[in-house]
Amino acid sequence: MEFSSKLLENAVYEMSQLPGIGKRTALRLVLHLLKQPKEQSVRLSNAIQVLRSDIKFCTSCHNISDVALCEICGNNKRDKSLVCVVEDIRDVMAIENTGQYRGLYHVLGGKISPMEGIGPQDLTIGSLVEKAKNGEIKELIFALSSTMEGDTTNFYIYKQLEGMNIKTSTIARGIAVGDELEYADEITLGRSIMNRIPFENSIKAL
Ligand SMILES: [Zn+2]
Repeated sequence: MEFSSKLLENAVYEMSQLPGIGKRTALRLVLHLLKQPKEQSVRLSNAIQVLRSDIKFCTSCHNISDVALCEICGNNKRDKSLVCVVEDIRDVMAIENTGQYRGLYHVLGGKISPMEGIGPQDLTIGSLVEKAKNGEIKELIFALSSTMEGDTTNFYIYKQLEGMNIKTSTIARGIAVGDELEYADEITLGRSIMNRIPFENSIKAL
């Protein structure tokens, strides 16, 4: 793509670094911003800057939060002995939308994936095991997507918790194998948490 302006070229390049945005779409978006009032672009770039500088991760569950302890962890009405293990904030949002879960979460920040070079130490598994050792958790619900990486991660955590007298369960698979949680409708997802099955049974089924 030939540009008559270096400034335009730079903006298009940066925009095209976003997932799913090719050069042509990037150009369309940048030209759109140029047609809008200047304030629109300023608000957008400010929002991104403030997001990057001020965003925090909850010190307990590692979910994205504006404060040190997120609203869910800080809510006294939630059952702190019940912890749902998820990959990222999108899963937390999907499960919260069901309105049926009253426990806490633990956000791993990804899944174990030897192919992508992601090992247990790259995730927040250490702090989950610490919480478990402190006796804070009675039941752990695995709610990772049912992919090979998800299953590997569940099994790794399950092994770490052996001998700690913690009940482990996995969400019932009304959700098809490989489906991401965020795409499951609220009723299906809510039901699959309520009808969770002991983790041991899910291993036998493999
Ligand atoms: Zn939290």
